[in-house]
Amino acid sequence: MSSTITVRVPAKVNVQLAVGGRRADGFHGLASVFFAVGLYDEVTVTPADRLSVSVAGPDAAAVPADRSNLAARAAVLLGSRYGITPQVHLHIDKGIPVAGGMAGGSADAAAALVGCDALWGTGADPAVLAELAAELGSDVPFGLLGGVALGEGRGEVLSPVPTGGSFHWVFAVADGGLSTPAVYGECDRLRDLDGGSADTDLPVPAADPVLLEALRTGDATALGAALSNDLQPAALSLRPALAATLRAGADAGAIGTLVSGSGPTCAFLVKDAASAAALATTLTASGTCRTALPAAGPVPGATVLN
Ligand code: ATP
Repeated sequence: MSSTITVRVPAKVNVQLAVGGRRADGFHGLASVFFAVGLYDEVTVTPADRLSVSVAGPDAAAVPADRSNLAARAAVLLGSRYGITPQVHLHIDKGIPVAGGMAGGSADAAAALVGCDALWGTGADPAVLAELAAELGSDVPFGLLGGVALGEGRGEVLSPVPTGGSFHWVFAVADGGLSTPAVYGECDRLRDLDGGSADTDLPVPAADPVLLEALRTGDATALGAALSNDLQPAALSLRPALAATLRAGADAGAIGTLVSGSGPTCAFLVKDAASAAALATTLTASGTCRTALPAAGPVPGATVLN
């Protein structure tokens, strides 16, 4: 058994995020189509005297380097399931924007589950890992699975979605993050203002068949037209400057634009890799974001590299 395990794990964008009413448990019913893209974190797990965390990357200062880190919580949870004291050092190399609506913390938790399982030789059944992942957070099971998947319930009940070929994206990273609970709160507030009730007046959301067909056939133009995110008005309300970012991408020829999850990262679909490289350069120069990164997908979920 290797004494160090490195796991690579991708970011996600929700190509559809349909948000239903607030449930009695405080969560929202969701129909969420997760799409894993080639922007990665790497989590390296090494035996140590006690549980510790370090973080590298441009946003490292915004990530807790203690037991509150979602990766550390994942190591503790897996250990408690198998009666193992989690004596590991977790090093997180962050390429996924922090608090960016791309589920970076959830990805690290999925990577830590896979990495500790490999290091400890626990050989956890995928169903057990998925159950522990759902306990850690709604987006964590998708970090294990990757590809494209429909998430129902609070987003954690996953079914794989077939796709035909690769799609090309650009992600405009903002300065500073947005809090996911704050964005859901703003979504409820806007819905209440609108005369409805965020609790009761909304149907249980469902996946859009037009979007699923575009994914299945690999039709980027149809996918671009079908992208949707019910959290986008709330993210724009909390961060009005994102309207200029979205406009800059649309003006530069993106075939689909949307806020990624709870934002503030903005996602742009383009037709090929060359268009992605060109749009990333244009957006970075536009001054409407901190940086813009091209990435293709779908890609696999958390994967051991060594
Ligand atoms: P989501 O899309 O799932 O709502 P997000 O991408 O918007 O998530 P994250 O990057 O997961 O947001 O981080 C949200 C907060 O969680 C951060 O501000 C940070 O304080 C905390 N956090 C805990 N562990 C991690 C981690 N491993 N990586 C990033 N943030 C973490």
